[in-house]
Amino acid sequence: MRKWLVLASTLVLLGNHSAPLRYFYVEVPMNSPQDLAPLRARGLDVAGINLERKTASIVVQENQLGQIRDLTIISQRPVERLDEEYKTPEEVEATLIEVEKNFPQLVKRESIGRSVEGREIWAVALTQKQSINKSKKTMLIDAMHHAREVMTTEVALDMIDYLTSHYQTDSQVKEWLDNYEVWVVPMLNPDGNHRVWNEENMWRKNTQGGHGVDVNRNYPYAWGSCNGSSGLKTSDTYRGHSAGSEPETQALMALAKRIQPKFNLSYHSYSEIVIYPFGCSPETIPAPDSKIYLDTGRELAKKLVKDSGQGSYQSGTSYELLYNVDGGSIDWMYGKEKIMAFVVEVNGTWQGFQPSYKKWRDVTVQRQRAGWMYLLEQMAAPGIK
Ligand SMILES: [Zn+2]
Repeated sequence: MRKWLVLASTLVLLGNHSAPLRYFYVEVPMNSPQDLAPLRARGLDVAGINLERKTASIVVQENQLGQIRDLTIISQRPVERLDEEYKTPEEVEATLIEVEKNFPQLVKRESIGRSVEGREIWAVALTQKQSINKSKKTMLIDAMHHAREVMTTEVALDMIDYLTSHYQTDSQVKEWLDNYEVWVVPMLNPDGNHRVWNEENMWRKNTQGGHGVDVNRNYPYAWGSCNGSSGLKTSDTYRGHSAGSEPETQALMALAKRIQPKFNLSYHSYSEIVIYPFGCSPETIPAPDSKIYLDTGRELAKKLVKDSGQGSYQSGTSYELLYNVDGGSIDWMYGKEKIMAFVVEVNGTWQGFQPSYKKWRDVTVQRQRAGWMYLLEQMAAPGIK
């Protein structure tokens, strides 16, 4: 209860004006991605899609419900309270310090930069430090570009836990860490997450200037080019005042440039899809990269069983499956650095951003293992650079 006691006492101090905002998930029909454009044009927060049910899920504040009465609403439910078992920035830091202490020969912890509010952005490199191979191939995992997507940090932390704790007993894991460096950034946006815990559980952006910037619309590749982000500071997809302006964006870019990973997996939620470049147009990856890139994306999606237990994820570009996205991380990773990068959107629309920890945390992170393990297996296969 600790975290919520802090919130409750803050609210008492601030008085009634700061009553927590109440949000609803509202499900509306979506026959094709084109149906999302008018919703986004109205400034609605399109949070995810369900390709089977052909629906989109939008997050609406209670006092905005009246403004969407004209939409066909299939279902509507209040956003649940965030379970306290999910991690705060301080708890992520403590977890990484602990794992480094327990596995000093396998874990190298490093701050890759500081957030807008000065929090360290932590990464760990998982690798057998004593092994002979000195020029190891690398892979980069990042989570929580978006503050409210709390399950993504759990997926990253589970990967760290799994690889370190299985090194001694699992020859496959041993081979991976002997030969590769697996870099994991479990919480790219700690300031936003701090706000999720203390003010607004549906907060998405960082906290730049108080209004925040959508870190995943801030990358300097096709930035602000196709109406796939917003120039309005109040928008949930505000792209920032210039390309690459945010310290969180810069931190991940600097790490990627330095380690030149073969793969980048970027965890988001939700929709149960795998996304590859590009976000702006029907244009996808050009030959000769396209075959191996798209095949890998398709295979990755196939490995990921949905949390319902029925069927697996689908793959495609954001443009094909969702809506235009500009300034997204994976377009920059591939477009500028030729890194094979994928977004994985974990959890279904029916689970939302913050599903019950007790019920879903272990299920989701365990199902995600098949995805990142598949990419670790592909580290030895031909790549695109
Ligand atoms: Zn996201």
